[in-house]
Amino acid sequence: MTTDGIDTEHDDNETTTTKENVRSAESHDETEVTTTLGDEDIELTDDDIYQRISVPQFTAADYLADPFFKTIYSYLQNDVLTGDEQTDRKTLLLAENYYIQNELLIKLHLPRGRKDLHAQAETHQICVPSKYTKSILKEYHEILGHFSANGLFPSSQTRFYWRTMAIDASMISKRCDICQRSKILSNPNRAPLHPLPVPTRPYEFISFDHKVLTRKTTEGNTHLLIFVDHFS
Ligand SMILES: [Zn+2]
Repeated sequence: MTTDGIDTEHDDNETTTTKENVRSAESHDETEVTTTLGDEDIELTDDDIYQRISVPQFTAADYLADPFFKTIYSYLQNDVLTGDEQTDRKTLLLAENYYIQNELLIKLHLPRGRKDLHAQAETHQICVPSKYTKSILKEYHEILGHFSANGLFPSSQTRFYWRTMAIDASMISKRCDICQRSKILSNPNRAPLHPLPVPTRPYEFISFDHKVLTRKTTEGNTHLLIFVDHFS
């Protein structure tokens, strides 16, 4: 496949293609994330994580089939608007921060507020069509060692964009099988439950319990001993 002069014919891994296409648009602003792989703590930069993620080759068709990106893409690619005044006004406003590079839709993410302007450089995020967002988040989640969403979102945000990324990232632990299972196993207060057998006749199953009384009875007793026949 040839996209705007980049020959990807010999590239078996489509992942590389998307990354090559956007390389010139990358920001060099790096955030470091510590993750645990095996027994070692390894400092992973956003770039390290990005290199490990397999990104499918997003095509124009993917964007044009995406409910959110299709209007922006269609406008940028063909100068075509929908004819609906409200939608088109929104598209024109949004389109200022988007551009297409080798079929990929890129969003320019600008730091908010004056304070941030000095601290944070602008980032060029690859827009991810909705059908690919789950697999990309899942990969981030696994590379970061089943992190909580707090670490996941800033890291994924430096490279990718889709509208519900923050919500999706915050939900990922709840949807991840490994996270859910390890939460149950790591809870030390939870003992396994053993339901009691149901007796079939009197005196088959008897339990007892005791209680220290808060004050002496008139007979001088201080404790209560209770027997229960589970058949009754
Ligand atoms: Zn997980």
